[in-house]
Amino acid sequence: MKTLRLVLGDQLNQKHSWFQKVDENIVYIMAEMRQETDYVKHHIQKVVAFFLGMRSFSEDLKAKGHNFIYLNITDENNPQDLEQFIKKYLQETSAKKFEYQLPDEYRLDEQLKRICNNLEVESQAVDTEHFYTERDELQNFFKGKKQLIMESFYRMMRKKHDIMMVNGQPDGGKWNYDQSNRKKWKGQAEIPRELGFKKDVSVVIKELEDSGVKTFGEIEAKNFSWPTSRLECLSVLTYFCEELLVHFGDYQDAMHTQQKYLFHSRVSFAMNSKILSPKEVIDTVLEHYYEHANQIHISQVEGFIRQILGWREYMRGIYWKEMPEYANLNKLENHNPLPNFFWTGKTKMNCLSHAIGQSLTDAYAHHIQRLMIIGNYALLTQVNPDEVDNWYLGVYIDAIEWVEITNTRGMSQFADGGIVATKPYVSSGNYINKMSNYCGDCSYKHTEKLGENACPFNALYWNFLDEKKEHFKNNNRMAMMMNLLNKKEERELRALKERAQLIIAGPDGF
Ligand SMILES: Cc1cc2nc3c(=O)[nH]c(=O)nc-3n(C[C@H](O)[C@H](O)[C@H](O)COP(=O)(O)OP(=O)(O)OC[C@H]3O[C@@H](n4cnc5c(N)ncnc54)[C@H](O)[C@@H]3O)c2cc1C
Ligand code: SF4
Repeated sequence: MKTLRLVLGDQLNQKHSWFQKVDENIVYIMAEMRQETDYVKHHIQKVVAFFLGMRSFSEDLKAKGHNFIYLNITDENNPQDLEQFIKKYLQETSAKKFEYQLPDEYRLDEQLKRICNNLEVESQAVDTEHFYTERDELQNFFKGKKQLIMESFYRMMRKKHDIMMVNGQPDGGKWNYDQSNRKKWKGQAEIPRELGFKKDVSVVIKELEDSGVKTFGEIEAKNFSWPTSRLECLSVLTYFCEELLVHFGDYQDAMHTQQKYLFHSRVSFAMNSKILSPKEVIDTVLEHYYEHANQIHISQVEGFIRQILGWREYMRGIYWKEMPEYANLNKLENHNPLPNFFWTGKTKMNCLSHAIGQSLTDAYAHHIQRLMIIGNYALLTQVNPDEVDNWYLGVYIDAIEWVEITNTRGMSQFADGGIVATKPYVSSGNYINKMSNYCGDCSYKHTEKLGENACPFNALYWNFLDEKKEHFKNNNRMAMMMNLLNKKEERELRALKERAQLIIAGPDGF
């Protein structure tokens, strides 16, 4: 009796128990589908990376002897739709059972449940064996609690998985080294040469063109540098441990015009496609750290572990707790359109020109660029979170809804009213100047609030606080800012608001 097993494009986990033994009665199926390339407009590098990852995964499994059917986007047998794909191969293989790994996206989870309800054969869903947590673990942990504080979830995870713990206490005596992770980058340490793979992806680009898939963003056809095979992903992890970990925490929040990546790991695609597991990443980093503890300070490592064991698992838990309602939340009632320069990077605001420009050329920006430059501007200009979400979901190499929407709609746009973040992440030009060298070459002056040379973030900031004051009146963490707002002279506030309106109304910011 044959069993048909579906593998989705972000389920490239070769260590899954499914693949540990070859069985001639099991047929695996995987396809590059228009359903997935078209549900939002993606950056071309994102589509290419997923296709390369999927192809490499299927080749590895075929080489190990598994019975694996793989359909390219241009394959004439490809129905381009999940339901038809499953039904076609159930029929062709005469399989009597259908199995799939639980998807991480609500959209696909619902679709697969619907498909299975209509199948004439038995079906079963199994875990992806990727995350540390089950879908409902966060929900159970916070049962009865009003606030879902990430820090308490993270501490529970450290204890539960015995990560950086000594005799029940956090290694080094502190849970959190956030305070020491806020240095500005002034060229203090040498940044090693980038690890690039220089792959020729002309064939995949041609296939995308031939099949009419619409993408955006840039790509160098003969110099594609994202890791997409298991070996490449492992080498990026080793490179991070050996070259970047030593300064990761220090410059985690820093931004620089000449350094796109600083000491960030760039393992998000490898993990979100499940080529690498979070446990594998954390174990490798800790092993390296304990071997070199005299050279690497604990703050560099804790900062990294917190992102993966804390934030990443936390966002997944929030997603499954709050979906599907989460996708429509707009608690701050923001309705403005996304400025055009989000699609071109062309603006006189140097910080946005760099952060958006880099997103379009590399399908990557690091966390603080996403949060405190791009997201900050979108929130201050009160852009509709649906448009913000679509942009973030399309543009980044690592954007998959469960981790994109919680970060964008929640952490960055406060559209969930404070489920993820206790206060909105907004700032004036001052913070941007503190953490970057963007302001130095900018046409605007971060020190000025009014006048045509004044940094737009300044007027936008006070305007935002004023317009949204009703929403924040009971938020203790906003009390200081609200006090400052209340102390503003009426005339100055009016002038700031007038300038903010001009910025918001302008076709390109203003
Ligand atoms: C508005 C916004 C949108 C974002 N969208 C995504 C997204 O679509 N996909 C995505 O993977 N991350 C997203 N993030 C989180 C974070 O920006 C990226 O994970 C990170 O920039 C990836 O680069 P890196 O691998 O070099 O990360 P590093 O800085 O080296 O961090 C290591 C790893 O920690 C994890 N991590 C760090 N921060 C977060 C976080 N806030 N949530 C979840 N995991 C985290 C990632 O897996 C990352 O690879 C978003 C953040 C913001 C503010
Ligand atoms: S002055 Fe303002 S707009 Fe210019 S880079 Fe600084 S924060 Fe950005």
